Amino acid sequence: MQPPAVLAIHGGAGPASPDETDGGAARWPGQAAGLGAALRAGLAVLADGGPALEAVIAAVMVLEDDEHWNAGRGSALTAAGTVEMDAAVADGGDRRIGGVACVTGVRHPVLAARAVMEDGRHVLLSGAGAEAFAREAGLAFEAPEWFIIERRRGALADWLAGAGGGTVGAVARDRDGHLAAATSTGGRNGQLPGRIGDSPIPGAGTWADNAGCAVSATGIGEAFLRAAFAHEVDARLRLEGVDLATACQEALAAVTAAGGNGGCIAVTGDGPPVMPFTTELMHRGWAEVGGSLWVAARPGPLERLETE
Ligand code: ASP
Repeated sequence: MQPPAVLAIHGGAGPASPDETDGGAARWPGQAAGLGAALRAGLAVLADGGPALEAVIAAVMVLEDDEHWNAGRGSALTAAGTVEMDAAVADGGDRRIGGVACVTGVRHPVLAARAVMEDGRHVLLSGAGAEAFAREAGLAFEAPEWFIIERRRGALADWLAGAGGGTVGAVARDRDGHLAAATSTGGRNGQLPGRIGDSPIPGAGTWADNAGCAVSATGIGEAFLRAAFAHEVDARLRLEGVDLATACQEALAAVTAAGGNGGCIAVTGDGPPVMPFTTELMHRGWAEVGGSLWVAARPGPLERLETE
């Protein structure tokens, strides 16, 4: 029997928010509802027998529009007070991948990443060239101020305190056993203009391989880049023969050794997703088609969301 179609999402790994006395707990109900909306969007695709790729894109689009997260509207700000977003999609069927880096104005960077992948000439486009490509593809744009929310201005003023996180991602397995991943981010608070993180880089923040696993990472991008993180998880799984949880743990140890922390969501052709992290929090959720929706921010058991 074919394993059930499944979707996992994340809303970023990081420290408990230092800008609130309750560590951000007041924001959790809204964040949980946002994770639930993204899960439902992706599950609707999978329940209809749609492809894993479309499911991860549907989930990430909801999170990009939700200002709780550091992607699309609500993105982190660079040291210059601007928004520069990175995104990637990966299709495990033939290891196709597409990404955009340092884009401004594109409402859904994940759609620009898909357009790059589908166009097929290139894997990664950045900056003005990526924006022109997205315009040509007919994608929606918003004014620069649309992406900037008040909370991020505060976080920028305080960025040395490490506030931030909230990158979004999704991995899915569809009814035919295909795997896909997508990641979208505004990068890190106070990053230098022009900085590109791990999220849009194949094999670092985003990866999918039907013969192995689909992975979307979050955390200190520089360390995930040095660890070639997402490919490291896939390679350990395929070549070392360890299980997915062990492969993720070993790859996260490489991130720690590279001086960073974070987490990931990952899924193989069989079984539930894994969602390990080395930070205080990782906003995350998962569900099987026809099953309950599970979400959490802190380590430990997940909460079941009431079905609507
Ligand atoms: N990994 C992202 C980056 O470094 C940030 C994050 O996941 O919080 O751009």
